[in-house]
Amino acid sequence: MPRVVVLPGDGIGPEVCASAAEVLQKVAPDVELDYQLLGGGAYDQTGSPFPDATREAVMNCDAVLLGTVGGAQNSPWNALPRPLRPESGLLQLRKALGVYANLRPVKVMPGLESLSPLREDLARQVDVLIVRELLGGAYFDPRRAIEGDSAYNTIGYSKSEVDRVARVAFDAARTRKKEVTSVDKANVLEVSELWRGVVQNLRDTEYPDIKLEHEYVDSVAMLLVKTPGRYDVIVTENLFGDILSDLAAVIPGSLGVMPSASLGDGPGLYEPIHGSAPDIAGKGIANPTGTILSVAMLLRHSLNRDAEARRIEAAVQAALEEVRTPDLGGKGTTQELGAAVLKALGRAD
Ligand code: ATP
Ligand code: MG
Repeated sequence: MPRVVVLPGDGIGPEVCASAAEVLQKVAPDVELDYQLLGGGAYDQTGSPFPDATREAVMNCDAVLLGTVGGAQNSPWNALPRPLRPESGLLQLRKALGVYANLRPVKVMPGLESLSPLREDLARQVDVLIVRELLGGAYFDPRRAIEGDSAYNTIGYSKSEVDRVARVAFDAARTRKKEVTSVDKANVLEVSELWRGVVQNLRDTEYPDIKLEHEYVDSVAMLLVKTPGRYDVIVTENLFGDILSDLAAVIPGSLGVMPSASLGDGPGLYEPIHGSAPDIAGKGIANPTGTILSVAMLLRHSLNRDAEARRIEAAVQAALEEVRTPDLGGKGTTQELGAAVLKALGRAD
């Protein structure tokens, strides 16, 4: 029986997780859910934002579903020493799971085009998955220093680090349009030359069915806005991916609708991209869509159930035609949108 650890967390996390867990139970009743603590609430109850019981549970499961962690700016949690703060719990969780690939699908739901900062005809074309390398590059390379009047950082990658994240991108492309764009800056960076070579070699030897293009990051930043419909899967290193995924995150018009997955060699971690939204926590109006679509990703990437993932995606689309939360310009509640998704899943049975 597959086991999923659910970490509702803080702020709107418990509200959006409740909806998402119901959806998971509806399409995969055989999955066992194990609720554990993470973040500020975990600190309040146990003295640690990543308690031992949580560590134990996530290391022995098939996937982790996470809500959000953290409090308002004036929260007492922010006065704690850094390692005890809610965000540290999340960092420790990611580290324990060794997740090296972050996946963010970006799509504008039919009917929500007017919320996008892109022109509606362009917004309609967007259906891209950004795969960002998460454990390497400038953010982690130990070759860094401030020396007198100068300073430096290093973007280092080994072939195996590139290979493992490229595999995630190619595998994902097989469930999509089978096109991968590898993003680098090979005209000026040696590390990009290595990156490009590894990705091309992997495509030629193991993924001949996937169409692969190499493009420069500056050009991709421009084209994601100008002609976003040209991309299916984008794979890139940590720093480029950080920037491109935030650029892409504004395209759907609300943070509330976007899911993510972080994958390594163990259990995958699935969470909405938004934060704990303390301004609306407890009001019952948070948009659960990002978390529900994270459940679809969990089924696809960790449990190998693509058909169920697609059922959820279709049900979310149908539900959003009937119910919209305030971030989408509607008056619907978390509970009403969740119920509409369950109803749409029922219709498809
Ligand atoms: P972080 O906690 O990662 O620093 P943040 O403070 O930048 O994130 P969020 O907590 O995501 O951002 O909130 C930004 C704004 O978006 C807030 O006004 C919040 O209410 C809104 N928001 C975020 N997620 C949702 C959601 N699921 N439904 C409705 N509104 C949301
Ligand atoms: Mg926040």
